[in-house]
Amino acid sequence: MIRKIATVGHPVLRQVAREVSREELASPATQSFIDDLIETMRDASGAGLAANQVYEPIQICAIEVGDNPRYPYKPKIPLTVLVNPRIEPLTEETFDNFEGCLSVPDLRGVVPRFVEVRVRAWDRHGNDVDQVVSGLSAGTFQHETDHLFGKLFLDRVKDPATLCTWTNFERHHRAAFVDRVQALVARFGS
Ligand code: ZN
Repeated sequence: MIRKIATVGHPVLRQVAREVSREELASPATQSFIDDLIETMRDASGAGLAANQVYEPIQICAIEVGDNPRYPYKPKIPLTVLVNPRIEPLTEETFDNFEGCLSVPDLRGVVPRFVEVRVRAWDRHGNDVDQVVSGLSAGTFQHETDHLFGKLFLDRVKDPATLCTWTNFERHHRAAFVDRVQALVARFGS
């Protein structure tokens, strides 16, 4: 079932989502919710979607990048469901990511993100996930995990003068950003 996506200003996006227990995760209701989260993310062409973006303040998010029309320059990420994720930066080095968000319609902005992070979580079956994510993909993991702690990319925009609509991103900022992305992807392969 495709769920409705909360937009900026709705308090659910500012809530710290609660952790999910193993029992709750295994329940048919939660498993069916995860199916909805994935379906909604795909329907909206998102690179990721957090549970509180669809009005469920629990610590679950989905990430997937295939041939995405919203982000054609993004390296692919296979479908990943993270439950109770924790992110640990593995370096102080950051890159300037140009981010957008399904909960912040028609706005993008530049956000510094760590170039390499360790992600620990459960998958949807409760198995341990422990992976290092780098490059542009690391930015996607940081963005989605932020949601579960009530943070939006807007909070991390250092220079509000970088905020722009999607049309103006395409017209005025995309080319320079894609150059930066290509350098990052060449370095990390992701
Ligand atoms: Zn978002």
